[in-house]
Amino acid sequence: SREWHLLSYPHGWPKPEDFALREVELPQPGEGQVLVRNLFLSVDPYMRGRMSTAKSYVAPFELNQPMQGGAVGRIVASDVEGLEAGDHVLHFEGWREYAVVDAKHAVKVDPDAAPLSTYLGVLGMTGLTAYAGLLRVAGFKEGETVFVSGAAGAVGSQVGQIAKLKGAARVIGSAGSDDKVKLLVEEYGFDAAFNYKKGPVSQQLREAAPDGIDVYFDNVGGDHLEAAIGSLNRGGRIAVCGMISVYNATEPAPGPRNLARLIQTRGRIEGFLVGDHYDLQPQFVQEVGAWVRSGELKYRETVVEGIENNLEAFLGVLRGDNTGKMIVSLEG
Ligand code: NDP
Repeated sequence: SREWHLLSYPHGWPKPEDFALREVELPQPGEGQVLVRNLFLSVDPYMRGRMSTAKSYVAPFELNQPMQGGAVGRIVASDVEGLEAGDHVLHFEGWREYAVVDAKHAVKVDPDAAPLSTYLGVLGMTGLTAYAGLLRVAGFKEGETVFVSGAAGAVGSQVGQIAKLKGAARVIGSAGSDDKVKLLVEEYGFDAAFNYKKGPVSQQLREAAPDGIDVYFDNVGGDHLEAAIGSLNRGGRIAVCGMISVYNATEPAPGPRNLARLIQTRGRIEGFLVGDHYDLQPQFVQEVGAWVRSGELKYRETVVEGIENNLEAFLGVLRGDNTGKMIVSLEG
């Protein structure tokens, strides 16, 4: 069985030398554990934060130990009641081919209800992030104008579509390529979208939202955040989900220069973590699951094959190689 280890904490952009794919003996499950053959692995921007010793909300990955992350697999050995060989489970021991998982941390998933990879994306953690961040944290209301960055990614593409389905007056997205911008408008029903690499974000946002924005869902930080504050309407809310533009920064990034606009707009900025919002999970699965089944909510996945490409897939997320959720498939 092969698994990815972190060898050193990267400075700036992670380099292949910071990691190793290691061959280990097939692990054996102990009491209350199951052995899982992983089929789909998640790679997510937040993992960059665990490749650092800076204090955060999750502990750093330990060096020379398998890294962790969301994964879906098939149980191959189990003495645990209620979990049989052949069952599929969602768990947290990713970055490896076979995983020993504590039964209490394994969530059974149904491959007939939805494709297995979607439990990592549109019906999983990133989907709930979009749902909770938009509806609860930002307090989105019908008739409002919403701006979302990282809009062609896993979280962002769902934020924009949920806003439309819930009656947004106007939804604007930004993304890093013309193809992604086209997808947002032509397939996902965004009212406007722009390529942030093609011109100043503040100017492109003003053109796309001449009457301002009521909600900004921030996946990016940096000049996107400053632009959103600049276009914020009275009573506007900014939900800070992520700031991917600074995850590899080696110097503190400059803050928004226009925070004083929050006074005149009575604007509010609030960060959040999806982990605090799992009480919404049943409601999320019911509502979003129905939209996915009916085709009203569309999603894409970028699938990279093979455990040997797990690291490249992760680096690809940071570069923007993905459209929708980035998934590593070990099915082949
Ligand atoms: P995505 O699928 O959106 O992938 C990341 C995307 O970020 C890339 O595809 C790329 O798209 C974009 N990107 C990379 N660098 C930059 C940059 N410098 N400026 C602008 N865009 C950039 O990932 P997720 O949907 O999984 O995550 C989106 C955000 O949500 C991340 O910030 C993540 O950390 C955060 N998050 C937060 C959670 C929470 O609980 N708070 C939970 C889950 C995710 P492009 O081609 O458009 O540049």
